[in-house]
Amino acid sequence: MIRKFLKTKARSPIARRCEDDKLTTLRQKYELYYPIAEAQNGTRVTIDGQELVMLASNEYLGLSQHPKVLKAGKAALEKWGSGTMGARSANGGRGFHRELEEELASFLGKESCHVFAAGYLACMASITGFAQRGDIILADKNLHSSLWDGIRLSMAEVERFSHNNPQRLRDLLEQLDPQAPKLLSIEGIYSMEGHIAALPEFVEIAKEFQCFLSLDDAHGIGVLGNQGRGTANYFSLTEEVDIIAGSLSKSLASTGGFVAGDASSIEYLRTHCKQSIFSAAISPSQAACARAALGVMQDEPEWNEKLWSNTKRYKQLLEELELDTWQSETPAVPIVLGDRERAYYFWKHLREKGVFTVISTAPGVPPGKDLVRTAISARHTDEDFERIEAALRYAKKKL
Ligand code: PMP
Repeated sequence: MIRKFLKTKARSPIARRCEDDKLTTLRQKYELYYPIAEAQNGTRVTIDGQELVMLASNEYLGLSQHPKVLKAGKAALEKWGSGTMGARSANGGRGFHRELEEELASFLGKESCHVFAAGYLACMASITGFAQRGDIILADKNLHSSLWDGIRLSMAEVERFSHNNPQRLRDLLEQLDPQAPKLLSIEGIYSMEGHIAALPEFVEIAKEFQCFLSLDDAHGIGVLGNQGRGTANYFSLTEEVDIIAGSLSKSLASTGGFVAGDASSIEYLRTHCKQSIFSAAISPSQAACARAALGVMQDEPEWNEKLWSNTKRYKQLLEELELDTWQSETPAVPIVLGDRERAYYFWKHLREKGVFTVISTAPGVPPGKDLVRTAISARHTDEDFERIEAALRYAKKKL
């Protein structure tokens, strides 16, 4: 009887929307959501029986299979079990959460830190945890989706300025109500573009107009600054940045996120961030892996050195091939192809030659900036580079 009803039931508008969605069709065409069958040491993966060089991971330092990281994760799993089964504000808080927070805060040069189960949640909370209705958020146009979600949820007014352009921010601020509380939201390294924030100029403006400065440094941690302390440290501006948010899923080789700042800001965040109050705490093994990776970053600076020497080598290659890298300054390197079809075929040809990359097309990037995102790891070897070079030459020729 029920089956008959289901068969004859008219499709609901939402079910029809799912069926007809053009973006979903496009995603399926570009074959996203690859199940990787095997992953070896961060730079080799196997998909459908084909072994590929991974050239699109955010694992900049290549620590996800470091013996110290694996050992710490296994020990935490044994000691604490698989999950926390509750929010920090309820039954999910454990001693190791505080330990990780204290270590992250001290590493970043901030008084305090709060850890979340995902970088996405942490970055959202770096906005909603502070801004509210009646405030104005000044936002770089190219912010990550997590920050836009935070901005929307905060109910504050939003004003966008052109990407990484302090002068446009200043122009905007000069026209706004000087009394309204303001939050400035920028990133340290922009993940698609590979640009480093013009932090010194933004800090100066934030001071002049009394903006609370919230920096998403998901891609800067492990990459920039002394021992990978991030973008604020790189510019010696840690004190001047109010909030440093980030992810544990990139250089820190785990899953999760954090927000760091002075003690009163973080206590305020703990009281107001729904992303942690109503969501289960980061698992023991994830927290332990991130903590161990943080230790490795400080004890073994060679990973950061190798990351940058590999990045230099890769940039030289791309320059030689006259590929447009959107003036990336970091290990996150886009190859801009300009339209969706070109990006698709470039990506496909790289894949044919055994190199895994990721496509990003409008609306994910500005129109005309359809690209293949690549990222360098400290673990890429000479052999990987040979494969990368051959694949790039092939894809370029085929364009
Ligand atoms: N912020 C930025 C700038 C990011 O690139 C990402 C992830 N790509 C996030 C936040 C979210 O981090 P996670 O993947 O750890 O949830």
